[in-house]
Amino acid sequence: MKKSIYILYTGGTIGMAKSSGGYVPKAGLLTSLMQKMPEFSHPDMPLYTIHEYPSLIDSANIQPSHWQVIANDIQAHYDQYDAFIVLHGTDTMAYTASALSFMLKGLTKPVILTGSQVPLIEVHTDARENLMMAILIAASAKIPEVCLYFHNRLLRGNRSQKVNAFSLDAFDSPNFPPLAEVGITIQYHSEHTISASSNHDNHALTVTTLKAVKILQTSLFPGIDFKLLIPLLEEKPHAFILNTYGLGNAPATNPDLITFLSLAREKNILLINHTQCHQGSVQMASYATGDVLQHYGVLSAANMTIEAIVGKLTVLFSEHESLSVIKTAFTENLCGEL
Ligand code: ASP
Repeated sequence: MKKSIYILYTGGTIGMAKSSGGYVPKAGLLTSLMQKMPEFSHPDMPLYTIHEYPSLIDSANIQPSHWQVIANDIQAHYDQYDAFIVLHGTDTMAYTASALSFMLKGLTKPVILTGSQVPLIEVHTDARENLMMAILIAASAKIPEVCLYFHNRLLRGNRSQKVNAFSLDAFDSPNFPPLAEVGITIQYHSEHTISASSNHDNHALTVTTLKAVKILQTSLFPGIDFKLLIPLLEEKPHAFILNTYGLGNAPATNPDLITFLSLAREKNILLINHTQCHQGSVQMASYATGDVLQHYGVLSAANMTIEAIVGKLTVLFSEHESLSVIKTAFTENLCGEL
């Protein structure tokens, strides 16, 4: 029996056309182009339904409310389809993939995000290849996780990042190997895949209802004035991410940093230590300049991407009231993000 795939089309370059103000999503264009391309109705193709969203967006405009719409849409069609594809702009695709991985609890079917750097309407495009392979991989139903397919590689969604604005090879998964690679054949790396049985026992999918979660972040740099950050603590963010140096180090001799850290602790604001390095992990005990952060209760993000941290914090603060429960869950590997 042919597999059936539900394609959620949210927008992005893949279905855009030129306008006087640059590329914009064009309603109906993607589907009409696909209908004219014989390969999309080849007998070897699975069955698929495209649900084009009424308001297609450039993914620079994505908000957590869109994550909720996508997750709810997957849940509403979960029993009818074997796999799901989310067509999405590349700019924030890794954020959406990360958030969905935490929101879709008990997932036992593939959810693959894809898009393109060049629209399908152009002759020189990566859209055809990305879309076609995402459909074929989804139909194989081999990988029951939220993934991102781009330029011959299937990456774990919550490990992926957009790393190149120019290249067709726009995404990477700097701290985790690809889940599949496409050449003449598709090579699945099942040893890296989360198995459906480990994911859930009773195969029921539940979806997190997101709340408004206030997250701030700043990158450290030589000369940063921590006094400028202190008024932000008055806004009572739920979490403040510090993008630190190397193994998670900060200018520990700066008294304004210490004031910032102690005020955040007093106000119960969760501070997260995320390294600016793309590979490796935070290890605060390695240097005195990192240890000081640990002393003030800053939590290590280990080797999580910034996209995964944002998704995980949004989901955890939506699900729990207790800061100690959130802290414990943040340091646990919930769905392959660590
Ligand atoms: N700005 C576009 C978007 O993220 C870029 C793309 O899709 O490649 O929607």
